[in-house]
Formats: sequence, structure tokens, C-alpha cells
Amino acid sequence: MKIYNTLTKKQEEFIPHKENIVNLYTCGPTVYSYAHIGNLRTYIFEDILEKSLQFLGYEVKRVMNITDIGHLENDSDTGEDKMEKAAKKAHKKISEIADFYTNKFVEDCNELNIKIPKIFEKASANIPFTIKMIEKIIENGYGYVSNNNVYFDVKKFKSYYELPGNRNNQQVGVRETVDYDSNKKNQEDFALWFTDSKFKNQEMKWDSPWGYGYPGWHIECSGIAIKNLGEYLDIHCGGVDNIFPHHTNEIAQSEAYLGHKWCNYFMHGEHLNLKNAKMSKSLGNVITIDSLKEDNIDPLAFRLTCLQSHYRSQLILDYEELRKNVTLLNKIRNKVKLLKEDNILEKYNYKSYLDQFKDAINNDLNTSLMLKAMYDVLKSSISNSEKIYLLKEFDKVLSLDLFKEDEIDEQLIKYIEEKIEERNLAKKNKDYSLADKIREELKEKNIVLKDTKEETLYEIVR
Ligand SMILES: [Zn+2]
Repeated sequence: MKIYNTLTKKQEEFIPHKENIVNLYTCGPTVYSYAHIGNLRTYIFEDILEKSLQFLGYEVKRVMNITDIGHLENDSDTGEDKMEKAAKKAHKKISEIADFYTNKFVEDCNELNIKIPKIFEKASANIPFTIKMIEKIIENGYGYVSNNNVYFDVKKFKSYYELPGNRNNQQVGVRETVDYDSNKKNQEDFALWFTDSKFKNQEMKWDSPWGYGYPGWHIECSGIAIKNLGEYLDIHCGGVDNIFPHHTNEIAQSEAYLGHKWCNYFMHGEHLNLKNAKMSKSLGNVITIDSLKEDNIDPLAFRLTCLQSHYRSQLILDYEELRKNVTLLNKIRNKVKLLKEDNILEKYNYKSYLDQFKDAINNDLNTSLMLKAMYDVLKSSISNSEKIYLLKEFDKVLSLDLFKEDEIDEQLIKYIEEKIEERNLAKKNKDYSLADKIREELKEKNIVLKDTKEETLYEIVR
């Protein structure tokens, strides 16, 4: 499998540490608010990656974190801690806010057929290991204590800028230049543990060798990954905004702790932007799964929209196109529903389409080529049983519910099929006025018939 590796800035053949096993870590949500579809695009990409690896025969061990303690990387962060702010606003405890938005995130993922990893761990549940890691980082000479806080000494870690690539652009984040932190040796250093912070009233604090406090933001991912997946990680994923500083700092901490290279492949999903405007709360145009559903848009039509573009390209979302994809997805599903098993299996034909799908995966997870393989199967002249077999296989990765069975639809389809049969009989008897009447009757119910040489297709227009 060829994938683009942010670490080396090239497409590379993927080789895991242990044959056939992939240790995969994907950064999880910060649970202080609803996820919007831009956030969810990254999780769709990661879901496709996991399922693609499984499709190729790998055993995938995947871990994801939940950022439920302050999203702080620096005492010079301006504004308020996001978790604290949300809790205060809702008059709730932080843990209640975290649980509420974690559940909401899981619901959103379910709607999008995104599989939640078995190990989906809260940062707050991993404090003892985090403290152990920080102690070892200090012992290994990469961390220092200053005014009861612990910082990572960036200058000591020679390959610090390997992942972001361009040192000048990335050196000090904008936020850090706003507020000078006098505790640090160098302004590029980042916090591993806060005891003294300007965020005085943090609700979640723990005892540590450096005082009563809480960890910096980045260390939670290194800790959760290493505790659950061991010393070697195969692929680390996130959105492009995670490259710097989050993943850059994760590498520094993890390798300072382990004393060797940690992860060979980093994959990053690009942003999603709206066609006409930036998605922002202040503009009131933040799209969530709930808002799609309120607008009668099947969340899986959004998944389909994501699959139409490559994960490394920016997706400029045209809402009208998204709406059209609701109809497109229904069309595809209707075509699939019309396939009746005929128990003819010609191994040769079916294998070439399977290879086509695998080639798309191997080509840096090219989802639009995966969709093309699906369309090609539907259009092909292979037997229905082969089509059904292939589409079921493809849908293990695509997860578009191509074989979705729902009771209301089942009834509707039975009705349509009966009507089509009735109409065919009328046509056979040359009773064209009855045939037209049936067509009109269906049209009034938003069901459009289309006659082809072999059969009558239909589309449910919503
Ligand atoms: Zn992370």
C-alpha cells in the first residue's frame, strides 16, 4: 500500500513494524462543543484508512483519545480554557460537559458509519502514566522544571522540525507571541505539566512531583498511544492543523521518553471549507450532523461527498452539491436493491473488480477511484451474484449502507415492484393507456420510472 507520509513528504510503500499488524493512533475530539462537519471529515478519512487496511488483510490496533482536560499547551494561551468555559456557561461540572459531548460525538460517528476504536480513552484517565512519562523525559535530559511547571526543552531535540518541515514558518505559534512566558528557557519550549498557571481555578487537578496541577495538552496523546500500543507506532493520523505544534510535540515527547524513533508514518487530512464563506459560529453557518438531519440530508450523503474528494485535497463544500448527493446515494441504493441473486459466479470477472478496488486503496487511499470501482461494477455485465458479492465487500470500506434495509423502504419497494410488474403486463397486452396510468400514479408519489432495453429502473425523488 502506498501512502503519503508527512514525515518524509513523499508517497511511500507502507511497511509496518510487525508483519500484518498495524498500530494506528488517531487524535480524538476535544469535548467542549458539538463537532462540525469539518472536524468529522478527518474522522471519515481515518475510518476509511482503518477499514482499507483491514480490507488488505491487516489486523489494525487502533487507539483514540478524548481531550477532556484543558486544551492548554502553553501558559501563554490567551482567552479561557475551552473546557472550563463551556462548563461555566452551562453551569455544569467539566466531567458532565465532557461526557455529554463525548456521547454526542459517538452518536455523530454512528450516523456517519465511523467505527469508534475499542480503546477510546479520556486524557483524565491516564494521569499516572503521564506523570511517569514526564519524569522520564526530565531524567533523559529533555525536560526541565521552572516555577513548578515542567517544560520540554525544544533545543535539545535535534529533529524537532522534521514533521512541519519549515522551521521559519513554524517556530513560534501566533498564540505564543501574544503573551511572553517568563518561565521558559526558550519561547518555543512547551509545557508538559502546569502547577502554576494563569488559569487559576482549573477544576481538574492532580498531585504530581511538581505540585498540584494538570498536564499540558500534547502529552495526553503520547501517553495514551504508548500505554496502549507500545513503543512502536505504525501510523499516526490527524487533521493538517495537528502537524504543528501538536504532532510535532508528540514526536518530541515520545522519542525523548522512549530513546528511539516512535512512528514511521504520519498521515494528515485536509480541511473542509464552505463554498461561499468560512464556517464559524459568529457567522452562524456551522454545519453539524444534527443540522444536516434537520435539513433532511442523510449524513451518509455527507460521507459520500467526502469520498468524492481525496483526503489530502481541501474540500470546498457546495451545499447544493451535498443535497444532490442525497439523491445520488438513493439512486445507487435503489440500483443495488434491484439486484437479485442469480447464483452465477464467474470468478475471473469478479476478481478484476476486486483488484481495481485494491489498486484504489493502494494509491494513497484514493476514495474517488474506490467509488469508480463501485460504479463500474453496477454498470458491468457480470452476474448479479457477483455484483452483490463485490458491492458488499466494497461497502465494508465505503460504509455507505448500500444494502440498507429499512422497513418503510422495503414496503415501498415491494409496492413499486408490483406496479412495475403490472405495467409490464399492461405493455405486453398492448394496453398502453393503463401502462401510462401506472407511470403517472407512481410519479405522483415521487417515483420516476426509466425504461431501459432490459428492464425498468426507478428513482425515488425526495
Ligand atoms: Zn493528539
